[in-house]
Amino acid sequence: MRDHLVRVLSKDGSLRASFAVTTHLVEETRLRQKTDPLATIALGRLVTAAALCGSLLKDDQRLAMIVEGSGPLKKLLAETDAHGKVRASVKVPLTGFAPDWNKYAVADAVGRAGFLHVVKDLGLKEPYRGMVQLQTSEIGEDLAYYFAVSEQTPSSVGLGVALGEQGEVASAGGFLIQALPESDETILEKLENNLMALPSLTSLLAKGAASPESILKTIFGEIPFTVQGSTDVVFRCTCGRRQTLNILASLGQEELRKLVEEQNGAKVTCEFCKKDYSFGKVELLKLVEKLD
Ligand code: ZN
Repeated sequence: MRDHLVRVLSKDGSLRASFAVTTHLVEETRLRQKTDPLATIALGRLVTAAALCGSLLKDDQRLAMIVEGSGPLKKLLAETDAHGKVRASVKVPLTGFAPDWNKYAVADAVGRAGFLHVVKDLGLKEPYRGMVQLQTSEIGEDLAYYFAVSEQTPSSVGLGVALGEQGEVASAGGFLIQALPESDETILEKLENNLMALPSLTSLLAKGAASPESILKTIFGEIPFTVQGSTDVVFRCTCGRRQTLNILASLGQEELRKLVEEQNGAKVTCEFCKKDYSFGKVELLKLVEKLD
């Protein structure tokens, strides 16, 4: 099944929800970032969370989620647009933890102390920035806490990544459910009961044929809902030669001259897709001139 995200709204307008299957996206992220199993799960959760938050964006809006923690992964970053195009990176891709992790290890890999930052480019003059302290460092609960505190929107977030024996991604996905203003208390109670009775996400996703629609049906139970739309979710990097040259320009003339003298040019690797960009002496000197 291709990765995709489905958005639904409860018929009474109390709840909106998205479910995303992100198996291929998380696997591609793993291959590009060369993460070990625990790092794959942590970054896979953040990538899935970003895809879900992207479903709340419109048109040219973009969103970045950054988790900075005291654990070995140091910093995880995922970016998305409104159209299911996601990219991600991790500062340290190897946790150094043994592969026989226990269920608490994601929080250890992220670190028990730290912050979740959300940066939204909504096409306004300044991007919107929100930040909360990590609560459990499991990422899903931290995102729910962010929505409650920074956006005053009661939310429930579930994220699941399951790996195969070689550390490859067997299945990944997650949900984001939000209570809308003036939501019906009895509907919220029903949802809460359904969520408590919900089997683990990884077990739901492991049933190969499980689609976002069918899992949303399980979550909503007898709460009637309508499907609002569906979006393909894919890995897509927005890097290019021109953006990379702009990054080099930000180093300033002196640093650029040093690169020309000492290295005869510059090689820059994109932190997301790991593509290399090489710039020769002539190109760099031109840039120095332009900065004059
Ligand atoms: Zn790139």
